[in-house]
Amino acid sequence: MNPFEIARETLKRLAQQRTPPTPDNYRSLYYEIAGTVEHETFPEKSFKALAGSLPRGTPEQLRFARQLDGAIGDRNWDGLKSALADLLNKHAAEPPNWSALIRDLVLRLEARQADLTPARKREALDHVLSSSTAPDLLYTRLQGLLKNWAQGGALETATEAAPPAETAADSSGAVPPAPTSASPAAPPAGNTTADLLDLLAQLLETAIGIVLADSPEMAAEAARLAQAARSARSPAEIAALIAEMKRFGYRLHFVAEDQAELRASLLHLLHLVIDNINELVIDDQWLQGQIATVLELFGQPLNLRQLDEVERRMKDVIYKQSALKKSLTDAQDQLKAMLATFVDRLAGFSASTGNYHDKIEQCADKISKASDISELTAVLDEVMHETRAVQLDAQRTHDELQEMRKKVEAAESEVARLQQELASASELVRHDPLTGALNRKGMDDALDTEVARTKRHGSQLCLALLDIDNFKKLNDSLGHAVGDAALVHLAKVVGETIRPEDTLARYGGEEFVVLLPNTALEDAITAMTRVQRELTRRFFLHNNDKVLITFSCGVAELGADETAPAALQRADKAMYLAKRAGKNRVLAG
Ligand code: GH3
Ligand code: MG
Ligand code: MG
Repeated sequence: MNPFEIARETLKRLAQQRTPPTPDNYRSLYYEIAGTVEHETFPEKSFKALAGSLPRGTPEQLRFARQLDGAIGDRNWDGLKSALADLLNKHAAEPPNWSALIRDLVLRLEARQADLTPARKREALDHVLSSSTAPDLLYTRLQGLLKNWAQGGALETATEAAPPAETAADSSGAVPPAPTSASPAAPPAGNTTADLLDLLAQLLETAIGIVLADSPEMAAEAARLAQAARSARSPAEIAALIAEMKRFGYRLHFVAEDQAELRASLLHLLHLVIDNINELVIDDQWLQGQIATVLELFGQPLNLRQLDEVERRMKDVIYKQSALKKSLTDAQDQLKAMLATFVDRLAGFSASTGNYHDKIEQCADKISKASDISELTAVLDEVMHETRAVQLDAQRTHDELQEMRKKVEAAESEVARLQQELASASELVRHDPLTGALNRKGMDDALDTEVARTKRHGSQLCLALLDIDNFKKLNDSLGHAVGDAALVHLAKVVGETIRPEDTLARYGGEEFVVLLPNTALEDAITAMTRVQRELTRRFFLHNNDKVLITFSCGVAELGADETAPAALQRADKAMYLAKRAGKNRVLAG
C-alpha cells in the first residue's frame, strides 16, 4: 500500500468505527494499517521551551543549558541523555562544601602573605560577595578567589561575569609577574622571558620536585626541564621547551590523579583500621572516647593541622594503652608470685602436718600403752610441742599469704584507679565541664544508643527537656558565678533523683535533657515532677540564704517511627507551653 492508500483507508476506518478523527487516533490507526512501528516524534518545541526556561546564571548552569540546546537542535535523544547524566553525576560527585570553603577563606584571609595585604584581600572578597547573588555562582567565584590568593595571581574568577571595564585585577591586589624576594639572582628588569623561565625552573625544582617525591623518574624529568628552562634563550630552544613542558604537564596530570586516588584510599584504609579498633575494644569506654574524637576529626575536610590533631590523639591513645598494659602486667606478676608462694607453703604445710599426724599417732600409741600419770605427762608435753610447731607453721603461712594478698590488692586497685582515670579523661570529651552532665555530643551518643535499644526491645523511651525559670533574674541579682553554682546544684539534685539508667545532659545554657529509657509517658511525667519536688526540698544555699530554683519541663515519648530530634522538638514545644502556662510545671508533648 502506498501512503495515499493508507491515509484513505485510515479515514474510512475512523468513520466506520465512529472514532473521533483526532490527530492521535489518526496516527495510531495509520501505523496499525501500515503495519509499521509508530515513531515517537521528537518534541523539539516543548524541549526548546524547557531549555529556554532553565537558569543560566553560573558557568556550570550555562554549560549544561548549552549542552541541552545542542542536543535539542540536533534532535538527538542520546545527547539529551548524556547531558542529564553529566549533570547528575557532577552533583552526586561533589556537592558544594560550604563549611570547608568558609574555613579556607577565613584561614587565607588571616594568613600573612607577602604579596597581598589583608585590606586588599578583604576588598576582593567584598567585590565577589556583592557581585554574586546566586549561591552556585558565589561558590565558584569564592573558590576561584581562594585559588587566586593561593597562587598570588590576578583575580580572574571575580571578573568572569563582571563588566570588562572593571579593574578587578587592581582591586584584588594582583602581584607583578616578576619574582621579588623569591629569586636570589634577579635578571635585569625588562627581561621578562628570562624571568619567566627562571620562575619556571624554580617551580619545577621546588614545588613540583616535592610533589613528585614518589615518582623518581618524573622528578628527574622535572630537574632536567628546570635545567633546560635555565639555559633556554633562543626562540628555537624555548619552542622545544614548550613542547616538552606540554608532554610533562600531561604526565603530571596523571601523577596528580594517582596521588589523589592514593590519598583517598589511604584515608579509607585508616578509617577501616580505626573502625576495627573500635569494634575490638567495644568494652573499653576510655578508648572509645578517643576513637570517637579521632573519627570526628576525620569527618571534616583534611588539612595538616587536623592531621596533627589526629596524630596527637592517636599517640595519646597508644600512650594510655601502654600505661594500662604495664600496670596489668605488674598485677599479673604479683598474682603469679603469690600463687607460687601459696603452692610452696601448702606443700610445706602438708609435709609438716603429715609429720604431725605421724607424731600424734605415735603419741596416741604411747598414751594407750602408758601405765602411769608421769608417762602420760611426758606424752602430753610432746603433743603440745608438736601442735604448737604446726600452729606456728600455719600462722607463718597465713601471715605470708596475707602479705601477698595485700600486695595484689594494691596492684589491683592501682589498675582500677588507672582505668578510672583513663575513662574519665576520655569521658571529658563527652561531659559538660561545669555540671559534669553529658554535653551535646555526649547526649547525641547516648540518644543513639538508647533509641537503638528501645527500637530493638520494642520498649518505651521518654525525653524530658527542662529549662530553669527566671534564670536571668538570678544571674542579674546574684551574679554569674552564683548562677553557675545554681546550675551545678540543679544538675546534682536531678542526677541524684533520677534512676541510674536515666541520663542527664546539658542541652544548652540553662536547659537540660533527661533520657528515661523503659518509661511510659505518664511515668516520665511523674519522675520529672518528683525531681521538681526534690528541688524545692533541697534548697540551693547562697551565703546561707535559701534560693529556690524551679524549672519548666516538657516530656515526649519517642514514637515508633519518630527520630530523636523530632521527639526533642515536641518536648521543647511542651516546655514552652509550660512556661506560657505559668512556669514551674511539667507538661506532656
Ligand atoms: P524563662 O523562665 O523564660 O526561661 O526565663 P530565663 O531568664 O530563664 O530565660 P532566658 O533564656 O531569658 O535567660 C537564660 C539565661 O541563662 C541567660 C543567660 O545569661 C543564662 N545562662 C546561660 N548559660 C549560663 C551559664 O553557663 N552560667 C550562668 N550563670 N548563666 C547562664
Ligand atoms: Mg532558656
Ligand atoms: Mg530559662
